[in-house]
Amino acid sequence: AQERYSSIREKPAITVDGKRINLMMNAGLMADLPSLENSGAEGVGLFRTELQFLVRNQMPKRSELKGLYQRVLEAAGGKRVVFRTLDIGSDKVLPYMKPTDEPNPALGWRAIRVGLDKPGVMRMQLQALIRAANGGPLTVMFPFVAQFEEYRLAREEVNKTIERERRLGHVLPSTLEIGAMLETPSLGFAPLKFFEEVDFLSIGGNDLKQFFFAADRENERVRRRYDTLNVSFLSFIERIVERCDISGTPLSFCGEDAGRPIEAVCLAAMGIRTLSMRPASIGPVKSLLMRVDLGELRKIISDARHRGDQTVRPAVMQYLREL
Ligand code: PEP
Ligand code: MG
Repeated sequence: AQERYSSIREKPAITVDGKRINLMMNAGLMADLPSLENSGAEGVGLFRTELQFLVRNQMPKRSELKGLYQRVLEAAGGKRVVFRTLDIGSDKVLPYMKPTDEPNPALGWRAIRVGLDKPGVMRMQLQALIRAANGGPLTVMFPFVAQFEEYRLAREEVNKTIERERRLGHVLPSTLEIGAMLETPSLGFAPLKFFEEVDFLSIGGNDLKQFFFAADRENERVRRRYDTLNVSFLSFIERIVERCDISGTPLSFCGEDAGRPIEAVCLAAMGIRTLSMRPASIGPVKSLLMRVDLGELRKIISDARHRGDQTVRPAVMQYLREL
């Protein structure tokens, strides 16, 4: 499939009305890295670090992690890599961690909640990342942040780890960006101060949709029931874009919808300028982006919203058919 898009692989994704969209890839295992070349991705917008924890049967050592992260950065050859700290719990359970018996794991003790309550593993991971960066730039993102305070505490952990590494004589990253994933509706309503403090935000659409519509992403009965192009969801996306514009916060979208061409062009029309997706989706998404006028698409979306449509999909499909 990637052959089909090879002619546009090296081209930037620029829409008919001249908007430049950054297309990044999601990764998590070493095997994903060759795709950085093949897909034309501009970097790794989401590196799911838990995957390397999930494929083994004991907790990796700090030195092993450092080696892994170093190889990831080397393979990226200077392109941006956004390392997401461990997102475990819920659907991702480590075989060597005592399972917690929770009635609703998706709403339970997971991701940054574990990282803040039991910071040992997160600290080890941060040290490994700092050492892997070896004096180069480092970008870290915390998953499942639901309120400002969680971001602040996580950021403090990073600062403490930097200080410890400095004392130990390790070289520190040349630049350090610390972002958060926006995966719970609550964070969209966080104080503007949060948007100002965070270095960047990435919308985790898979979890965000699950919590926005209260529909389990793992449950076949309900998971496709609500459309990403539902006007309520798009209004929420619009709100986040507006807040980020006010505070000058870089914003991306890294859920599965970023890799679906129709959804992707609509997210771009709502003002999202960076999309991170599975590598094989970059060609198809870029190809459609290069054929649409985001201004026109935005107008079609807002007309559908004013008419009271439940989802803008039919109106958008009509526009795309006429291209
Ligand atoms: C998301 O929730 O959209 C996301 C990118 O993270 P994950 O799918 O790993 O939960
Ligand atoms: Mg998620």
